[in-house]
Amino acid sequence: MTASDDIDSAAPSDGPAASVAPGPSAFSAIGVAPELAAALTALGYEEPTPIQREAIPPLLAGRDLLGQAATGTGKTAAFALPLLQRCVTGEPRKNRPSALVLVPTRELAMQVAEAVHKYGKAKHATVLPIYGGQSIGQQLRVLDRGVEIVVATPGRALDHLNRRSLVLDQVKMAVLDEADEMLDMGFAEDIEAILSKLPTDHQTALFSATLPPRILSIAKQHLRDPIRITIAKERPVAGEAPRVRQVAFVVPRAHKHAALGRVLDMEQPTSAIVFCRTRIEVDELTEAMGAQGWRAEALHGGLIQEQRDRVMKRFRGGQSELLIATDVAARGLDIDHLSHVVNYGVPSDADDYVHRIGRTGRAGREGVAITFVEPREHRLLRNIEFATRQKIRVENLPTVADLRSRRLELTKASLREAVLAGELDPYRSLVEELSNDLDVMDLAAAAVKLAHDASYAASGDQAEEQDLVFAPPPPMQRAGIASPSPHDPSRARLFVGAGRIDGLRPGDLVGAIAHQAGVPGNLIGAIKVTDRFALVDLPVAAIDHVIESLRGIAFNGRRVVFRRDLHG
Ligand code: AMP
Repeated sequence: MTASDDIDSAAPSDGPAASVAPGPSAFSAIGVAPELAAALTALGYEEPTPIQREAIPPLLAGRDLLGQAATGTGKTAAFALPLLQRCVTGEPRKNRPSALVLVPTRELAMQVAEAVHKYGKAKHATVLPIYGGQSIGQQLRVLDRGVEIVVATPGRALDHLNRRSLVLDQVKMAVLDEADEMLDMGFAEDIEAILSKLPTDHQTALFSATLPPRILSIAKQHLRDPIRITIAKERPVAGEAPRVRQVAFVVPRAHKHAALGRVLDMEQPTSAIVFCRTRIEVDELTEAMGAQGWRAEALHGGLIQEQRDRVMKRFRGGQSELLIATDVAARGLDIDHLSHVVNYGVPSDADDYVHRIGRTGRAGREGVAITFVEPREHRLLRNIEFATRQKIRVENLPTVADLRSRRLELTKASLREAVLAGELDPYRSLVEELSNDLDVMDLAAAAVKLAHDASYAASGDQAEEQDLVFAPPPPMQRAGIASPSPHDPSRARLFVGAGRIDGLRPGDLVGAIAHQAGVPGNLIGAIKVTDRFALVDLPVAAIDHVIESLRGIAFNGRRVVFRRDLHG
């Protein structure tokens, strides 16, 4: 007997909406409370989607549910509306939410939290997205103050459970969204641990795009007499080709490090694997990306098993966002569901290309495959296009203007996040006071400007002005490179006429200054490496000696200029 034998089956539904009258009454007709239905009308939803029509009534009636549905079917509202209706009382308890939604990724956590917030505005629903990579302090404060709905990735949820900052004994409804993705990401044990903390009388809804045996066994164990719903994808794609956006950039070898940084800054991957040809390339690139503020991990055949396990654990746990690997080392590893796959060079075999990019773009989410092509490698790219019968678009590298608008988007996203996280009361009175004599729109625009400048001030310095081809954008929330301190009269700045695009790393400078000039490492201050030059903070007394000692030194075959930086 398979697990699914135990589960009620409703007829699969993929047809058009049934004849329910449009307008808020179409939602009211399936039991949605008037204030929630009004919010939907305001959003322009005219009638429930098939999954909403099938899932909402049983969920409102308190039934457990097993739903097979992909993203884009309206499944978020299908569980969010019953959740809002059944769990939100307007009286959040400290650390004890009444609803818990588990999702595989940070994006989905934000997206679902935002949808719940939007639908539940009239009920003043409090919702908190929690995911790894975000400061835990703020999450702790909001949980402590009390939220009714928590939308979390399993790892971070477990973290909070262990700290007792999240207690699940009041949960009335738990939702597992994209359960197959969560299992693929290795969250099976975390999910079990979390579900075991729920009170016995809670309701559970499990949504998954596919229903492999592992999901059915979770359903069998944790769902009580569930109603089962299957919603066919709207437009089944012929051959189930993965949705992967394939792009290529032509980049000369010397510019590849910087170009990768820039492309990734535009793309903002949450988990990406970068394929390199050799161990040395892996190590160099890992260091270069680390110096640009990325959390990058190297994986190659030179690592012992224990090191590899550690690397993979950090990558799967979201503590690193880039896995830089040789093909051989990555082969056989259970890492799919990546947001991005990067071919740092064109793979010589079309099968390798197909295999690599198959690791991204799953379960209804678009994946991105990026390929760097050195000018002489053009033919290899054509070979791949020929073998795969797919066109790979060659695009221009993002420009400074592209990055600027991307940063504005990120500022917008973090403002949305701040609104969701709440804790704004202390500022509200300030806004009220200022709005006595200032226009609220002007006020908001000024606040956005300050927030934006604060995140990106570091990139507005000479690096960006001088470096229009490969400006380094220090992204938000990433470890920046400390700026030298120009105001201390005992210190001075050394200008180095080589930068990231020459392959220069902070370690190279420390090595040269310590070994060639004999300046002890502890006297070498902050080092800033931009794409085209670098600045090193040094004792003023040592600077002339350092310049003298380094005169004539070449880096990667190019003589490098060293001089005292006039600004420092
Ligand atoms: P989801 O599958 O939950 O990611 O939803 C896909 C998109 O459909 C989202 O942009 C929703 O805002 C939208 N949506 C959900 N339900 C409805 C509805 N009943 N009518 C119109 N749009 C909807």
